[in-house]
Amino acid sequence: MISSDAIRDFVLMDEITMEKFMETLKKRFQSGKIYTYIGEVCVSVNPYRHLNIYGTDFINKYKGRELFENPPHVFAIADAAHRVLKQRHQDTCILISGESGAGKTEASKIIMKYIAAVTNIHGQSEIERVKNVLIQSNAILETFGNAKTNRNDNSSRFGKYMDIEFDYKADPVGGVITNYLLEKSRVIHQQAGERNFHSFYQLLRGSMDSDLKKYDLVKDPSKYFYTNQGSVEVLNEKNDYKSTNSAFRTLGFEKEEIDTVWRIVASILHLGNIDFQMQEDELVIANKFHLSSAARLLNVTTKDLSDALTQRVIAAGGSVMRKDHDVKSAEYGRDALAKAIYDRLFSWIVNRINRAIVFKGRQQQQRYNSVIGVLDIYGFEIFDNNSFEQFCINYCNEKLQQLFIELVLKQEQEEYQREGIEWTKIDYFNNKIICDLIEQPHKGIIAITDEACLSVGKVNDETLIGALDKNLGNHPHYTSRQLKPMDKELKHKEHFRITHYAGDVIYSIYGFIEKNKDTLYQDFKRMLHKSTDKNLSEMWPEGAQDIKATTKRPLTAGTLFQRSMVDLVQTLLKKEPFYVRCIKPNDIKSPSVFDDVRVEHQVRYLGLLENVRVRRAGFVHRQRYDKFLLRYKMISQYTWPNFRGGSDREGVKVLMDEKGFSNDIKYGKTKIFIRSPQTLFALEKQRNDM
Ligand code: ATP
Ligand code: MG
Repeated sequence: MISSDAIRDFVLMDEITMEKFMETLKKRFQSGKIYTYIGEVCVSVNPYRHLNIYGTDFINKYKGRELFENPPHVFAIADAAHRVLKQRHQDTCILISGESGAGKTEASKIIMKYIAAVTNIHGQSEIERVKNVLIQSNAILETFGNAKTNRNDNSSRFGKYMDIEFDYKADPVGGVITNYLLEKSRVIHQQAGERNFHSFYQLLRGSMDSDLKKYDLVKDPSKYFYTNQGSVEVLNEKNDYKSTNSAFRTLGFEKEEIDTVWRIVASILHLGNIDFQMQEDELVIANKFHLSSAARLLNVTTKDLSDALTQRVIAAGGSVMRKDHDVKSAEYGRDALAKAIYDRLFSWIVNRINRAIVFKGRQQQQRYNSVIGVLDIYGFEIFDNNSFEQFCINYCNEKLQQLFIELVLKQEQEEYQREGIEWTKIDYFNNKIICDLIEQPHKGIIAITDEACLSVGKVNDETLIGALDKNLGNHPHYTSRQLKPMDKELKHKEHFRITHYAGDVIYSIYGFIEKNKDTLYQDFKRMLHKSTDKNLSEMWPEGAQDIKATTKRPLTAGTLFQRSMVDLVQTLLKKEPFYVRCIKPNDIKSPSVFDDVRVEHQVRYLGLLENVRVRRAGFVHRQRYDKFLLRYKMISQYTWPNFRGGSDREGVKVLMDEKGFSNDIKYGKTKIFIRSPQTLFALEKQRNDM
């Protein structure tokens, strides 16, 4: 028997139990082997320390090699995805999943670096530029889209899907980044111990004093309401600010564009410090300094900003009226403005990066040949307080789990079918029922929430939870305080619970309606469109609309998100998938602690054991006849140095008959299928003994 830490593929375990799985994973982690396969799925445990396994020596070792030829590595997955694309001109994608802090973003960067390193052997300068842009884009996206949370110091607060486009020689010639739902509520509020997006601290701590003066800012984030509610811990802002700006330049952002970006970030800090007071029935802005600074930085007049913050313009019956806000609605408007400006800025940056990735000199009609999609999206989240954002993020994870289930099983089944092989099906938990709970038309949580948001009259979060209870009370994956008053976890009347595939999450309905409606007063849109900063104005095209024009009610945040998820799944379904399943070994960012309970939980919900079983119930190993022969022909006198008696398939048959393995294998149309790992061991052993 081989020792646990030497098992490179869980399929090769002598028994498929949780104990064995955990023992193997733990031993491997403890001996620094963070990657293990399940067939072609790569399981990765966050090492929380630098490992010397990503250098040029390693890249060369994995280049053009089959998975089983080297120890497991995410490089091998990247190489496999690239080889499929190169040899078959088939689109592939690499889906990286796992909870917050499990190492998804790191894995995606490692994959991109690998692909960059193994392509463009002729050193074409434009391809080099494209590769550089792809890699540098990460620095910018992380600055504006990542934040320190209690789970991860560099947590992605947006979803990212990147298509890397390749020409017919399989060299990268372009790419498109798609971003999903930025957690913009973080702009105005952070939980204890957490921070706002990195960009704010980079601007404050990284800029030169003279620049800060330009922004009317002081270095200290604790002076600003939007950056002082959680933590003001210092990370690496000084250097990061430099890297962000240098990445902007590499990507060809104009000087004015970079200036716009930082001015917008600065203006948000000022907005956060604006207070409102009622003075003799009139709403006034208490802190004029922040008002005028924000206006100046946004290139709008102080009067326009002040008006938009304190009043609403309402068009009724052909005439236009002004209506004062009360303190509460003014505060709501201010926060909505801050969130919206940041959100638009982020999307604008992504678009701007996409323009930079376009291959210069490529003709319009000269399309790329094929793509590798890399998906790095927020992991499943359970916080102390879970709101609409966690609901969306966890829904997204349900969708991706669904895709995993379908594809991994489908692929397996299809291959057996294609090759004419019989096999037995394995039971697994299908989370489709949870996806339906959330997304079903008319009946799902998103639809019910939308209905509440669209109905006229007084609908609040409490009525919403009532509607959910009424419609979903019998659903096995839904319950609420109202339905189960004795349930100790459901402490408050606004609590409801979804039993996700990855565990129970208690959500607070509080804020669902507002966040789903996601209203930004028209006044702000018009004001921002009028900005004399052309980049900023461009971000707000809808502000051009006439006040009196009737506007269609915009789609809700929930529906928009759902649609983007459906699109994403469609995109992924067209590609041949490769998986990296990331696991977080502990909650204290320690390189040495393997928290059995936490890890086992992740192994369970990621369905890894079922994955092994499915893989095993079928066949542990399959390989094309020509390749198989090439690897093992030296162990048989009939096939060494070459088989002359017929096809590769016949050669393989002669070899396997001679060795007495015939009972353990099936012959497909183009591949040999081996059922038990022992056969593979024996073959490998004989080969090594030669
Ligand atoms: P989130 O969902 O919050 O974005 P994530 O899965 O993207 O989480 P990462 O940001 O990739 O998590 O990883 C968290 C941290 O773990 C990294 O900042 C890094 O310190 C460490 N880490 C992850 N993967 C590796 C690795 N392969 N080698 C060394 N350190 C790693
Ligand atoms: Mg991440």
